[in-house]
Amino acid sequence: MFQVLTVSCKIEVSPQQVEKLDAVLRAFASCCEYVNKNTDPKLTNQIAVQSLIYREAREYSGLSAQMTIHAIRRVCANRKTAKQQNRPVKGFAPTSINQQPRSKIERRRSNSWTFYQFRQFMTYKAVKFGVNLVFVNPRYTSQTCYKCLHIHPVRGKSYRSGKRFSCGHCGWIGDADENGAKNISVLGLLLDQPGGSGLACSLEEHVLGLLKSHCSA
Ligand SMILES: [Zn+2]
Repeated sequence: MFQVLTVSCKIEVSPQQVEKLDAVLRAFASCCEYVNKNTDPKLTNQIAVQSLIYREAREYSGLSAQMTIHAIRRVCANRKTAKQQNRPVKGFAPTSINQQPRSKIERRRSNSWTFYQFRQFMTYKAVKFGVNLVFVNPRYTSQTCYKCLHIHPVRGKSYRSGKRFSCGHCGWIGDADENGAKNISVLGLLLDQPGGSGLACSLEEHVLGLLKSHCSA
């Protein structure tokens, strides 16, 4: 029987790994500070900042090439957010693995490397245990109701409010993360069953409905 599991996990680390991670975090934060102090604060374009300071910043922090690029990206993201909110750039504290981004936008802009490492970790585990690992596009999975597959009809609005999901179409109310996870598992199943899906049928219904309304008008 084919089974889709959606995994939620916390990675346990040894004291030695914690030490290493902390050292990387401190180097990452100081690299960010260095880049921020030594480039024009008006610069928000990552490539522009990179071409100015990449070599110096890497030498200064001792970080890997990839991490240095991430630090520069983080500074640029931070500057963009500061500009939007009309405030100066805040300091870079070595607080967490993804540098605890302060806003939703900043989080999206800066934590991709954590996901990248997590993905590598999952791939390794899946290969080791012979599990088929499927990556799906998470777009709209938090906004779509897993029961009736509807999304809020008004642009910019969502049936999701924080941890709670309350569908305005079928009335399902529940945990927003659970709803998202169920949508992701449906998408995972879809990739393995190209023949047919509830999603495609539902879409067809909508399209047919649209066609009918156009034809009768
Ligand atoms: Zn619904």
